[in-house]
Amino acid sequence: MEKIKMNTPLVEMDGDEMTRILWKMIKDELLLPFIELKTEYYDLGLGCRNETNDQVTIDSANATRKYGVAVKCATITPNAARVEEYDLKEMWKSPNGTIRAILDGTVFRTPIKVKGIEPCVKNWEKPITIARHAYGDVYKNVEMKIPGAGKAELVFTAADGTQTKETIFEFDGPGIIQGQHNVKTSIESFARSCFNYALDIRQDLWFATKDTISKKYDHTFKDIFQEVFDKEYKERFEQAGITYFYTLIDDAVARVMKSSGGFIWACKNYDGDVMSDMISSACGSLAMMTSVLVSPEGVYEYEAAHGTVQRHYYNHLKGEETSTNSVATIFAWTGALRKRGELDHLKELQDFADNLEAACVETIESGKMTKDLALITELKDPVVLSSEGFIRAVREQLQKKYA
Ligand code: NAP
Ligand code: MG
Repeated sequence: MEKIKMNTPLVEMDGDEMTRILWKMIKDELLLPFIELKTEYYDLGLGCRNETNDQVTIDSANATRKYGVAVKCATITPNAARVEEYDLKEMWKSPNGTIRAILDGTVFRTPIKVKGIEPCVKNWEKPITIARHAYGDVYKNVEMKIPGAGKAELVFTAADGTQTKETIFEFDGPGIIQGQHNVKTSIESFARSCFNYALDIRQDLWFATKDTISKKYDHTFKDIFQEVFDKEYKERFEQAGITYFYTLIDDAVARVMKSSGGFIWACKNYDGDVMSDMISSACGSLAMMTSVLVSPEGVYEYEAAHGTVQRHYYNHLKGEETSTNSVATIFAWTGALRKRGELDHLKELQDFADNLEAACVETIESGKMTKDLALITELKDPVVLSSEGFIRAVREQLQKKYA
């Protein structure tokens, strides 16, 4: 077969450990035989980040802004143990955090549905996508332990020196307090990313906060979403036949449990942290989740939702056979290739992404899967394949489509 052509390169961000091994296998077995793959390569493996003083991460994010689409392998976020293991000059920051800060994006996570790996919630016929605001609130809080009686106040000092004060509480004994913040521009970006993504995948958007209790903080989120929607998106939503729906967070949770899925659920930072773990575990595993960072200016970075699978990597280094699930990493590639195909009007590239995803799903549904899925599938007598064996089985399935 003649290889599928590309015009614009994808920004390719390589990573660490077991996912770096899978990355190469995916390229060799599933991409290079079919596509004249064009990428601009950035090695975000910890060694290269250390050598370049993390400049490579910043360069890769800037390249993503330039080209519009990136695909990222899982990477190590260093801790004290990693500093020693890799003899690091510094405890470099999380690459995902650095990239997110440069692109100012929102992360959308969606379970990958296959027959035989059914969600615990029986009525979830279609996947639910979680959009998590990735700035502020409790993640940028300031806390204090109150040792004893006294008055706690919120004080804002304006640029001109004028002060506004609110009493938080008059303590008559020990306690705790916490200060949180968010900024208008970040909430607006979050709203735009959500509205754009809803239009992109033509699904309804839900958003929920606790605005009845938090009449200024949470209510501001509600108001900003509504303003941005009315001004910039209302008509386009009508044309696309989709809706924007706001409700209270507890009402949203109740409705989500009873829904049949197939919508995007936008969450404040903390709600998104908690709810994305609920959705992913209800749907099987992190290895069966897609994840994409969408910036308000319309730049896309696709990745897997899981980490570098360190435990499997150490087994691999000892020469033991591994059975690591590559589906989320494959779907990071297909997501990026499909988006590149859309932007460059390359139908064959978009079709290839569809075919590769279908090949993964069909392979699993035929009973061939990695160990993590074999443990939870409802299919009888699944065949457990190695990391490489699964990718080969997907290749056979894909080749049938191009025979
Ligand atoms: P992890 O890589 O997500 O793996 C945790 C466990 O989940 C694994 O040991 C494995 O369970 C299971 N698992 C995850 N992905 C799997 C897959 N594809 N196939 C089969 N099983 C899978 O988390 P971690 O081991 O805690 O973290 C390792 C490194 O990843 C850390 O250095 C962390 O900084 C980094 N990390 C990176 C990202 C990212 O780049 N997006 C995200 C999270 C973590 P069993 O051992 O039971 O088989
Ligand atoms: Mg979490």
